[in-house]
Amino acid sequence: MHTPAPRFGDVDWTEDLVTDTTTDGRMPAIAVYPGKAQSLHLTSLPRTLPDPDAVRVRVRRVGVCGTDRDIIEGRYGRAPSGSDELVIGHESLGVVDAVGANVSDLKPGDLVVAMVRRPDGCPCCQAGQPDMCLWQQYTERGILGANGYMVEHYTEQPRYLLQVPPELEEVGVLVEPLTVVEKAVRQADLIQRRVACWDPQTAIVLGAGPVGLLGTLLLRSRGVNVSTLARTPAPNPAAAVVAACGAHYVATRETSLAELARSLPNVDLILEATGVSALAFEAMTVLGINGVLVLLSVTGGDATAPVPTDRINHGYVLGNKVTVGSVNAAREDFANGVAHLTSFERLWPGLTAQLITHRLRGLDEYKQIGEAAGAGIKTVVEFPPA
Ligand code: BGC
Repeated sequence: MHTPAPRFGDVDWTEDLVTDTTTDGRMPAIAVYPGKAQSLHLTSLPRTLPDPDAVRVRVRRVGVCGTDRDIIEGRYGRAPSGSDELVIGHESLGVVDAVGANVSDLKPGDLVVAMVRRPDGCPCCQAGQPDMCLWQQYTERGILGANGYMVEHYTEQPRYLLQVPPELEEVGVLVEPLTVVEKAVRQADLIQRRVACWDPQTAIVLGAGPVGLLGTLLLRSRGVNVSTLARTPAPNPAAAVVAACGAHYVATRETSLAELARSLPNVDLILEATGVSALAFEAMTVLGINGVLVLLSVTGGDATAPVPTDRINHGYVLGNKVTVGSVNAAREDFANGVAHLTSFERLWPGLTAQLITHRLRGLDEYKQIGEAAGAGIKTVVEFPPA
C-alpha cells in the first residue's frame, strides 16, 4: 500500500520551526563530509549579497536524486577546495531576491532554476559545452567541488540561471532531472541526422524513477509509443504516471525485456535509466535497426556480467545501431525542459506533480533525506519562504 502523495502546500511553516535562520550574518545549509557515510549535518555559510554581475536566489525547494544518495552514503562527491564539507543539492528552484547593478535580465521575484556544472578551460567548455567537458576538471554545484543549493540563499551569475514561469512553481524543481532526458533525446536526434528518415515511433525506457518517468513524458509528448520498464508490478505510483500519459508500464518480474521487445515493432530508441549497468548490455540485444540506445545511469560500482558479444556485435554492424552515454545538460536542455514542463501541464494537468511523493522541511527534517531519497518517486526538500 502506498501513502498518498502530499499535496502542494501541505508543508506548514507555521509549525514549530526550530531553526534560527537569522543569526550572525550566517545562514543555515545542509552538508556532508564527502567520502564519509551518513555525515549529513547542518552547517552555516556567510550570508552574502551578489556582486554587480550576479543575483541572489532564495531557495524554495531542492529535489533529491540517486546522485545525492551516493554522496550521502559516502560513495561520491567532493568538497570545494579548502573545505572538508560540501553543501548538497543540485535540483533547485528558487526566487531571485537581490540583483547586482549590472544585471538586467532577471529581477527580484523571478522564479529560477540553476544549472549544475561549471566549466574548466577545456576546448569544449570554452566553446560553451561544459556538459561535454574534455578535461573533466569541471565542478558541479552540490556534487563535485562546489557548494550546492540546500542553503537559505545562493548567489549566481544569470548565465547559469533559467527563469521559470510562475505557473510551474509546484513542479519547477523537476526541471533539472528533466534536463537529463532533454539532453539524451537531443543527442539521439543529433546522431540520427545520419539517417534520412529518423522518425522514432517506438521507444523503451528502462527504469521508472524520476528520470525514466520524465523521459517517458517527454517521448509521449512527441507522440512516440513508449514502454517503460521497472521491477515492481503495478499498481504503484510510477505505473499510474506511465498509464496516465498513455505509455505502457511493464514489470520485469512479469515480462522480460526480450519478451517485450518481441511484441514490439522496430525499437527505434532506448533510454537506460535504471542504475543497473548489466541492463545497458541487455538493451543492446533488443535495440532495433538504425536505433539509438542512450545510457544515463551513473553506476559507481564494479559489477560485471557475461555479455553475448557476437550477437550484439553482429546486430550492431548489420543494423547500423548506436549506443551513446549522456551526462549533465546544456543551457538549451534547461530551456527546453522549462518549455516541455509547461507543455506536460497542458497535456496532462497535474500529472508531473504526482512524481513528487515526499516533501521534507529541510532544516528540521534533513536527517531523513538519505532514507527518503530511496523511497517513493521524488523527494523534495522545502525551504522556508522569506
Ligand atoms: C546530475 C548531473 C551530473 C551528474 C554527475 C546527476 O545527478 O543531474 O548534473 O552531471 O549527476 O555528477
